[in-house]
Amino acid sequence: MIEKFYDFIIVGSGAAGGVLAYNLNKSRAKVLLIEAGKFFRKDTFPRTEFEYTTQLFWGGGLEFDKNGKMAYLRGKCVGGTTIVNQCLLDRFDEVAFSEWRLISGIDFFSENKMKKYYDKIEKKLVLQEIPEKFYNKNTKIFIEGCNKNSYGWAPLRRGQSDCNLENGNDCIGCLGGCHRDSKQSTLVAFIQKAEKENLEILSEFFVEDFEHFKDYVLVNGIKK
Ligand SMILES: Cc1cc2nc3c(=O)[nH]c(=O)nc-3n(C[C@H](O)[C@H](O)[C@H](O)COP(=O)(O)OP(=O)(O)OC[C@H]3O[C@@H](n4cnc5c(N)ncnc54)[C@H](O)[C@@H]3O)c2cc1C
Repeated sequence: MIEKFYDFIIVGSGAAGGVLAYNLNKSRAKVLLIEAGKFFRKDTFPRTEFEYTTQLFWGGGLEFDKNGKMAYLRGKCVGGTTIVNQCLLDRFDEVAFSEWRLISGIDFFSENKMKKYYDKIEKKLVLQEIPEKFYNKNTKIFIEGCNKNSYGWAPLRRGQSDCNLENGNDCIGCLGGCHRDSKQSTLVAFIQKAEKENLEILSEFFVEDFEHFKDYVLVNGIKK
């Protein structure tokens, strides 16, 4: 049993938890960030596809719904799914928001209302488009197809700071954790910065439940 008290305990260090922990820590609160998965960094991420699939994902990368009809992927490591995702970070537009508004009834889903939040978070990230001179053959064929059929297209924005494309680096190894700290995962953009300001991180701890008492909340779980 760890007997320690915090102002905030955040469970899960992905896109949601990592950013929340960063901001609460910045406000000088005493914060603990708990993560079920392992804590890898740029020089310790597993190198091969087999190793990173089995170590960075829940279920070793093989999870299905109860009926076995749909497979899905969930990151399980410090940084969560932002460690293994593509890090394409475009804003959603009214096409998406209007449908979500309709389904959810939440009027907050709109380009206008979301703008100030996008503006705020984007200041913390390095966002880049791949310059045209680095487009590969697939991309060129795709663009040609769009143009021939008069479909609009636009490059996607990625969260990346230094992919070293000028020197011929075209790695997509970042899907198993970026070895350059270029990909703007929660780990790179938030958690490592907050660590320098005393954010505490407990990895390989699976939270099972919470007990609510008058003056505090007890977090129960298993240290793996
Ligand atoms: C392959 C792939 C590619 C993607 N590409 C993109 C993309 O290009 N652009 C984009 O915007 N989005 C992308 N996404 C989606 C995006 O990564 C997720 O929407 C986002 O990470 C979700 O954030 P989250 O904080 O909700 O969950 P996560 O990032 O999954 O974080 C949750 C964390 O909580 C931990 N956790 C869960 N339960 C417990 C527990 N009981 N105790 C302790 N820890 C726990 C997990 O281990 C995990 O680390 C992609 C997703 C996948 C799978």
